[in-house]
Amino acid sequence: MTAPSRVFVPSVTEEDGGAIGLGVFSSEETAWKVLRRFLRKSHLMSLKRSDLVIWEVDQVGEDGMTVLTSMHCRDCPVCKRRTFWVDLDTFSAMCTGHSCEAWIEESTIEPGIIDLGWPPTRFLKQAENLEDAISELNKIGAQLEAAGRTPDTVFTSTLEE
Ligand SMILES: [Zn+2]
Repeated sequence: MTAPSRVFVPSVTEEDGGAIGLGVFSSEETAWKVLRRFLRKSHLMSLKRSDLVIWEVDQVGEDGMTVLTSMHCRDCPVCKRRTFWVDLDTFSAMCTGHSCEAWIEESTIEPGIIDLGWPPTRFLKQAENLEDAISELNKIGAQLEAAGRTPDTVFTSTLEE
């Protein structure tokens, strides 16, 4: 078995600036899997960003490094937990909070149009930009609050059924 010529390195950064390395992997697929699994624990930690970086092995200097993706952690517009991961380069976002998973993604069919959704009620909608998409999700969060239910109680009762 030959050593890989490039490696995939996922990491997260805490609110106080501390970086946590999640390992070094020879395939992009595995690196993504490890990163996604870790991000599901977002609500237990104070994280502000995550990165997936490719390093060319044995190459000196910064040319050896390519940032594949960077995501920033925000409060989720729907469940209000700090579990909403936003990728500004691809106009996509996804809540990793349990039983929420609100998402935003640029349409693959109509470029420039943003799709958004909230799986618990199968809510799907389109928006013209990222801000509008986030305000649509905010409306769902406001409806939950207006109904006198915090997302947590909604989710707990859903889970108990
Ligand atoms: Zn959420």
